Amino acid sequence: MNNLIKTDVCIIGAGPSGSATSIMLSKEKIHHYIIDKAVFPRDKTCGDGLILYAYKSLKIFGDNIFNSFLNHPKILHSKIVRLHINNELVINFKESKDRDMLISYVKRIDFDNFLVEQISNDFAFKEFGNGVKSLEKTEKGILVKLKDNKQILAKIIVGADGVNSLVSRKLTKQKPDTKYKSTFISAYFKNVEHLPKDNEAEIRIVYKKTPLFFYIFPLSDGTVNVSLGARTDKLNKYNINLLEEVDHILNSHEKVKHKFKKATITSKWRGWVIPFHFGKQQVFGDNFLLVGDAAGLANAFYKEGVGTGMMSGILAVKTIKEAIRINDFSSKTLNKHQKNLKSEFSKLLKFSYFTLRLMRFKQIFYTLVSLFKNKVEKKFKKMIIKRSY
Ligand SMILES: Cc1cc2nc3c(=O)[nH]c(=O)nc-3n(C[C@H](O)[C@H](O)[C@H](O)COP(=O)(O)OP(=O)(O)OC[C@H]3O[C@@H](n4cnc5c(N)ncnc54)[C@H](O)[C@@H]3O)c2cc1C
Repeated sequence: MNNLIKTDVCIIGAGPSGSATSIMLSKEKIHHYIIDKAVFPRDKTCGDGLILYAYKSLKIFGDNIFNSFLNHPKILHSKIVRLHINNELVINFKESKDRDMLISYVKRIDFDNFLVEQISNDFAFKEFGNGVKSLEKTEKGILVKLKDNKQILAKIIVGADGVNSLVSRKLTKQKPDTKYKSTFISAYFKNVEHLPKDNEAEIRIVYKKTPLFFYIFPLSDGTVNVSLGARTDKLNKYNINLLEEVDHILNSHEKVKHKFKKATITSKWRGWVIPFHFGKQQVFGDNFLLVGDAAGLANAFYKEGVGTGMMSGILAVKTIKEAIRINDFSSKTLNKHQKNLKSEFSKLLKFSYFTLRLMRFKQIFYTLVSLFKNKVEKKFKKMIIKRSY
């Protein structure tokens, strides 16, 4: 075979999950390939908020990377998030005084580029702007064929290729269920007024037969990211049009409309999907592992997908290191990936999914949260400390 490249590890996708895997592999001095169909900086539809596991992952990469993140001119940080339920009830999520922040905001075009810039030139061979066309199982591993006809034979493939993962589709033959997906739309606005002080995020739950999540996240250039979404199956069931709903909120919602009186949209509305099917679907097999959105690791309730994706890449490296050490790339060894992901995320992701389901019952949810507001705030404080840094 002409132009056949051989490697132990090949990562497909250089978003947060793939970049994190690469940074960690390099820390372990493991040579690898990382492929992305895009050339960076590249954009990605997102709310542009970073929380919990994003900090934990950046800390694990090392203090120099974490400090560059903290001091990056395009990244804003805040110590407070308020969740507004039903216009009346407010849950406060606060960071302790001695730590730096609870939430950060940065356009994905900048954050993903920041991560890609941390990828090692010594251990990682980058193939950007060259998408994967097909994958083929062979006796010696998985043959990756690229758009430019280059071929890479890898003992392990890391599927970090997002919600519509080719790796997952080709190697597991599974399709994510719409029950475990949310659909969101997002756009940028300028001249938004009366924003809360200290870069506070505004998160609202707006009931419309099903709970809709509405976010306003401030950005370093003075614009804001506005997102709206809900569970995909419920949007379909109730025939909810997110564009109409967001228009209605921006023009008529009593707590929001005054902020958007002079605002102008500076981008198109873009829609995309957030998957939370982890635990329901396969995330490993002979010669492959899945991470991030490809593994359905976003949080069903508060939609963290960047941080969980990065952390899953870090965890994947533990299994990859072991597989290389014992020279066994079969599912028997790679199943440790699933175990590691479960022990890190299962409790939190199950709780988030349960909360999302409970929210359907507006009155019960509202009453429970009102009754236990102090407990909820305390529980979240503990969670923030455990799951971030
Ligand atoms: C509207 C919206 C708002 C969101 N808000 C937030 C938020 O505020 N905070 C948060 O934490 N999460 C948020 N999320 C979720 C978050 O965007 C994802 O969970 C996160 O991007 C997952 O990272 P990833 O690296 O797994 O996948 P991605 O970021 O999707 O990266 C996948 C990469 O794979 C590449 N790729 C795909 N196919 C191929 C191929 N065949 N060949 C080569 N390369 C390929 C792509 O080019 C891409 O670079 C939001 C999502 C949406 C849709």
